[in-house]
Amino acid sequence: MVQHTETRQANNTMTTELNLSKMRSEYGFPVQYFLAANNAEIYMNDLIGSRITIEYQHIINCVSCGKTTQRSYMNGHCYQCYTTLPECDEGVFYPEKDMAHLGISRDMEWSKKYSLIDHYVYLAFTGDLKVGVTRYNQIPTRWIDQGAIAAIRFAKTPNRNLAGQIEVEMKKHLADKTNWKTMLSVTQPNVDLVERKKFFLPMLPDDLRLYATYDDSVTPIAYPYTNMVANIKAVTLDKYDKIEGKLAGIKGQYLIFENGMVINVRSHSGYRIKLNV
Ligand SMILES: [Zn+2]
Repeated sequence: MVQHTETRQANNTMTTELNLSKMRSEYGFPVQYFLAANNAEIYMNDLIGSRITIEYQHIINCVSCGKTTQRSYMNGHCYQCYTTLPECDEGVFYPEKDMAHLGISRDMEWSKKYSLIDHYVYLAFTGDLKVGVTRYNQIPTRWIDQGAIAAIRFAKTPNRNLAGQIEVEMKKHLADKTNWKTMLSVTQPNVDLVERKKFFLPMLPDDLRLYATYDDSVTPIAYPYTNMVANIKAVTLDKYDKIEGKLAGIKGQYLIFENGMVINVRSHSGYRIKLNV
């Protein structure tokens, strides 16, 4: 489905045609970001301070089957994949609706690998304190994708459903969504995560509280975004054919431009673009 096309122009810029996908990250100070480009990766931190252009080709290829799709469902899937794949089932969005522990799943083999494994419920500071659920091996990737600047493990469960039940309890007191504008504007956590964990744990019913973790370590996360941009505006390729400007930084899955435009790379998974750097 993907043709490798890369051309170097006379002014020493380079154009690569690629289907966008969630940027891969590596924990570090700051976080390192990589964008898959056909069979290679572009080291995104190197582009900060440079002018880049993202030109939409008006094609979306499903991230799973590669077919062209008019609309992207759940971060880059075609409708067929969205309605049949286990990774697009409602338990992914709502962990408490994951029924794999009862043997119910679109694909039990998938669920054995992704649902019936250890999960963490965590508290993260993304501008507000939020609660979330992730598979044990997605820490700290999940936190980085959300743009958290600090996070702590809250509970550890042997499957996704139980983690979801704890999250449901905690949602009575805490947000589970990230406000992207707040997330992109904060630099320092204004809460004590250890204290908050101690505060919230007793609110869990007894049968769930037994999954509390003893690990009280707080993970700080620093992003390659230090020169804050004022008046940011989220843009999408559905509305803009071309997004260009000097890259000011990267946080979460957002590219932030000096002109105030910000784009969520992950939500454009499957979108075919020409990237000029
Ligand atoms: Zn598909």
